Amino acid sequence: MGFLSKLTSFSDEEFSYLYRLENIRFKREQAERKFLKEMETEWKKIGGEALKEFKNEFSDEFKKNCRMQFLKQQIRALNEDIGLIYKRCELSLERNESYIVRVIICNINNLEEKEKRVKRFGTELYLLENKQENMEISDADVVVAKSFPFEKLIEVNHGLFALCPFHADVKPSLYVKNNFGYCFACGWKGDAIKFVMDKEHKNFVETVKFLNAGGD
Ligand SMILES: [Zn+2]
Repeated sequence: MGFLSKLTSFSDEEFSYLYRLENIRFKREQAERKFLKEMETEWKKIGGEALKEFKNEFSDEFKKNCRMQFLKQQIRALNEDIGLIYKRCELSLERNESYIVRVIICNINNLEEKEKRVKRFGTELYLLENKQENMEISDADVVVAKSFPFEKLIEVNHGLFALCPFHADVKPSLYVKNNFGYCFACGWKGDAIKFVMDKEHKNFVETVKFLNAGGD
């Protein structure tokens, strides 16, 4: 604790507060995991067959909608979390703290894992939302579009920042990392597909086609 507060402008008191917060979060997550594990065991006891029958009573459309609701809710919660982590990093930047502090903030909060999950859930949601209506694009097209390099869509500087097109930006505040953008000023966030959809006012299919054609 003393070591960390020497690197930063946090006082020992603030640090022990942060530490307690993270500890509470960690314990809560542990309890949730334990609960889920117990639920799963219970399910298995009741029997997989019963579950299968139960599932078959619902239409594919209904199951699809349930899954979509679940994904949307997960993405919303994760994005809120990610936004908070970025805010903490921003605060740390404002305080001119050492880079290591931001590394710690990101690691302690599993930022990377959360961003990966948002991406994964987002792809699945895109596919579920657009598959039926739009057979003209394939899953592979969506993957290509999602991984279309951000730097080809907008000029990103060495510090990984770009001028944000979604608000009147004077100093670059759109942070681009792992092909995912986040604006510290207006809060816009998303991948290459979302970027083109919002900037060019194209729909999903148009955007996927546009990006598969090289973005011009
Ligand atoms: Zn912005």
